[in-house]
Amino acid sequence: MSNALLQTEARRLPVHERFYSWQGEGCHAGRAAFFIRLYGCPVQCPWCDSAGTWHPEFIPRNIERLPPDELLQEAIDSAAAFVVITGGEPAIHDLSALTDVIRDRGLRCHIETSGAFPLQGTFDWVTVSPKWQKLPLRENVRCANELKLIVEHETSIADWLAWLGDDLRADHVWLHPEWSQRQNRAVLDSINQTIKERGDPFRAGYQLHKLYQVDEQDPRSRPPAPLGGRIHLSRED
Ligand code: SF4
Repeated sequence: MSNALLQTEARRLPVHERFYSWQGEGCHAGRAAFFIRLYGCPVQCPWCDSAGTWHPEFIPRNIERLPPDELLQEAIDSAAAFVVITGGEPAIHDLSALTDVIRDRGLRCHIETSGAFPLQGTFDWVTVSPKWQKLPLRENVRCANELKLIVEHETSIADWLAWLGDDLRADHVWLHPEWSQRQNRAVLDSINQTIKERGDPFRAGYQLHKLYQVDEQDPRSRPPAPLGGRIHLSRED
């Protein structure tokens, strides 16, 4: 294989889905965005809602590997001002070629990551959502534009604040009820209480796109595969 061909192959990324929607979470909520969801996640949270990117029961047999130019064309043709690279855990991949193309085309580049791996690429906005299953690198926590803490139970916030310590420097710290716990009164009240007692930078978060079912309106968006806390879930359950 020639060097040029090898380089082209190296730039390809395994893509679970790509679709046009709007950002449903965080500081950019409600803005048009093009999403690129990549395969692979070694973190493996029991309540993952993207199990199709890594869980042996849900991951497809054939995985498409696409070069940055092909991934980006639809984003360029859309009204989106930014591309969100997500997963899975996108930072297990070298994203440099993709982020270069995104920025060359005049779009801004956002990443949503657990923070557990070094970031490879140039990003305009970094969202770190730490997970106990594989803790984030401190450098990623410190450089995050926003943190998204998943509140699974009523002590989650206190547990994360104790772990974060002096690295709690992000301008925005979102407190998201874990989706399967979104009607759990104790979880919601722990968020209410934290925000009312401490004020900024804490903010109440939610996955607004799920309420609007906007992702599903792009036919290339795959149906979510939520584990809901059951790591051993199978397709038949
Ligand atoms: S929630 Fe995110 S970090 Fe956790 S398993 Fe799913 S994709 Fe990986």
